[in-house]
Amino acid sequence: MNSITPEDTLSVDLDLIQRELDDNIRSLSEGWKGSIPFECCVLHEDDIANISPPNLIFSEIDICEYLSGNKYPASRLVFCPKTYPPPSTVDAMSNKISSEKCPGWINLRRALCLSALKSGCSIISNGSNGVSRDSANRVFRCGINHRGNRDDDNPTMAIKQYRTTSLINDRSNNRENGKVLNKRIKVTDKSGPSCKFQFTVKWIVNTYFFVELRLRSGCCIHTSHSRFLSTDSIPLPTRLLTSDEVENIVHVVNATSNHGSARNFIHSKTGNIISLMKSAYLCRKHNSDDQSAKDDILFMMENLVKSKDISFVSLSDVP
Ligand SMILES: [Zn+2]
Repeated sequence: MNSITPEDTLSVDLDLIQRELDDNIRSLSEGWKGSIPFECCVLHEDDIANISPPNLIFSEIDICEYLSGNKYPASRLVFCPKTYPPPSTVDAMSNKISSEKCPGWINLRRALCLSALKSGCSIISNGSNGVSRDSANRVFRCGINHRGNRDDDNPTMAIKQYRTTSLINDRSNNRENGKVLNKRIKVTDKSGPSCKFQFTVKWIVNTYFFVELRLRSGCCIHTSHSRFLSTDSIPLPTRLLTSDEVENIVHVVNATSNHGSARNFIHSKTGNIISLMKSAYLCRKHNSDDQSAKDDILFMMENLVKSKDISFVSLSDVP
């Protein structure tokens, strides 16, 4: 659709629309090349033993240009060990729990996901590749459609019944067509083949993190889904916010009692969009109220009980 300019919209004809639609639909089956601009140092096989980390020179490259062996004989894309400190022991990244405490890995993962999102597609870190002999790796895959369609094993559940009412519950949770049935939710259509985009990040203890390029590793083509038309209007997942940004959101909400102010503040400061719900969720999480099932009425009652200035009488229990 990019080839339609504002001037064309006055004189747009049906043939042009049809051609644009055909081109876009064709591009879905052909796939499109992803892009992840990032500061890296490209190492060839011979350089790996000869160049030590202090001598690495970093510049911005597109990681996707190097995947699938496209820039052979490049064999590693090294990330700056000062910005993204590698683990200091083998155990520091041996499992998911310990790797979540490794600041270098957390910052690198966030920066890679953010760069990919701003360039047209989200990616996720999908654990380590268990087939590989060394599990000292983390695989990044397409965040839109990385998992193929799986048939439902239970034939009776294959045709799903959905709720037909917005009333979610009654006391015994058995309202006909109520909560007992599945809620109809908006999810990505995963009925087509999955997207094969992926690359692998490895590390050497006390040395650096790097993208593995040997054996034509990785795939830079997204298939069976489209690119984001405009990344400016894509809400940012909360996992990609830095701890400073979360702190800012919490402080603004505390100062103004308004989640909208926090959303506007983050948008004007960083250009990232977060929704009101995400702002409220982050504040609850930060204040450790995340597990609480309390609603507004319970909060009001608690405040009334705490307050010495307000006298009140409860006429009945709130259901
Ligand atoms: Zn994809």
